[in-house]
Amino acid sequence: MASDSDRKVSPVVTRFAPSPTGYLHIGGARTALFNWLYARHHGGRTLLRIEDTDQKRSTQDAIDKIIEGLDWLGLNFDDAPVFQSDRAERHAEVAHKLLEAGHAYKCFATPEELEQMRAEQRANKQPMRYDRRWRDRSESEAPDGAPFVIRLKVPTDGETTIHDAVQGDVTVKNAEIDDYVLLRADGTPTYMLAVVVDDHDMGVTHVIRGDDHLNNAFRQLPIIRAMDEIEGGWPDPVYGHVPLIHGPDGAKMSKRHGAVGVEGYRDEEGVLPEALFNYLLRLGWGHGDREEITKSEAIELFDLDGVGKGPARFDIKKLQNLNGHYIREADDARLAKIVAARMDRQADLDLLTQAMPVLKTRAKSINELVEGAAFLFAERPLEMTDKATGLLDDEARQRLAGLSEMLHVQNDWTSEALEATTKSYAEKLELGLGKLAQPMRAALTGTTTSPGIFDVLVLLGKEESLLRIDAQASPTGTEEND
Ligand code: GLU
Repeated sequence: MASDSDRKVSPVVTRFAPSPTGYLHIGGARTALFNWLYARHHGGRTLLRIEDTDQKRSTQDAIDKIIEGLDWLGLNFDDAPVFQSDRAERHAEVAHKLLEAGHAYKCFATPEELEQMRAEQRANKQPMRYDRRWRDRSESEAPDGAPFVIRLKVPTDGETTIHDAVQGDVTVKNAEIDDYVLLRADGTPTYMLAVVVDDHDMGVTHVIRGDDHLNNAFRQLPIIRAMDEIEGGWPDPVYGHVPLIHGPDGAKMSKRHGAVGVEGYRDEEGVLPEALFNYLLRLGWGHGDREEITKSEAIELFDLDGVGKGPARFDIKKLQNLNGHYIREADDARLAKIVAARMDRQADLDLLTQAMPVLKTRAKSINELVEGAAFLFAERPLEMTDKATGLLDDEARQRLAGLSEMLHVQNDWTSEALEATTKSYAEKLELGLGKLAQPMRAALTGTTTSPGIFDVLVLLGKEESLLRIDAQASPTGTEEND
């Protein structure tokens, strides 16, 4: 077995090993992120293995969704993905090596026999575990040609301690680990065997995954140690079992807490990848009180000793705040493209880009940007919200008409000049600016919320602005006839 000092010089290889379920779960995304960062921080490599042995769930669509989600988050891998289902022969080969070396044995127990064993254990309130009935029996006792599974011969005395990089030392008595199945009667490998063989063959040095797999580590280690005894070159990996993500109520994160798939955060919540990256990083890993951490800072700072031992609680508000931060930081042309793709009508990218600095000041999601930008491309006659219509009473319409006259002769169509004109008109009417700005907003956007009204005028341009104002204005003195 490789000693600790050997391992320190061997380059770090991590892996993310999702089972396709139809989407990339945010817990999985965080595991992928930690593996990616750990490898990047230590100058190592990180690999992707698709655990697609459950043929029913592992559709191409489910696999594509995982790869697409990882790609969107900016997590790249250092080799093509490994597909576990391609490697069944190799898994079986290792099972046979274990068998030949006496570290595994054939079990001829029939399903009925095992069911009866379990029923007895249940009745006697014993732990439900295979009772090793074939461990010391000879194959010759089985009927000719009887089907068998191959089971691992797990040491029954002593205990195993894992020096987990996140959980610390965890010890389990070997007697508590069952002689589980490596190879089924039809010759197909079990998940437990496949993971170990794949990790070895991919040169994985660090297994970083959810702590729901900590128990599996105690079952997987005996294979590793047996193979190391048989042929050498099977060092124990370093384990890091990361606590799962919980919802705000403290229960394991599930659909009832909101989106659990990365695509839900992208498509429904309108989150930018760098915001989710930062949020998932902070969820369970800390560096002082720092909330905003860029990708390159994360690579520099990340290590497993900063991962908390307790489950992290998902807080959508924090994610939204981070998203607002990254929206303000983001390049305007890039945001314009993202927003344009989500608008329900053709959007002019140049205009959207130009509008972005004023649209993004308060937005916490792409959805808010899409909503905020809608007025730019709205067609006349504008669809009005009830609130906006409510603002346009007769008096307001008359004021708009007066303002329109002044704006028609306005040549300097800048925010400053438009503000000066509007203010002077408000002063003339002895009104606060708001009394003018509100109906202007209603007329120009059809809503009661928008960026600053002078920014709206500039973005729409003189012609469109006046057409919209005039559509709502009624000339002074004629309202009684309308
Ligand atoms: N395929 C397993 C899962 O998606 C992960 C296995 C592992 O990381 O060892 O939960």
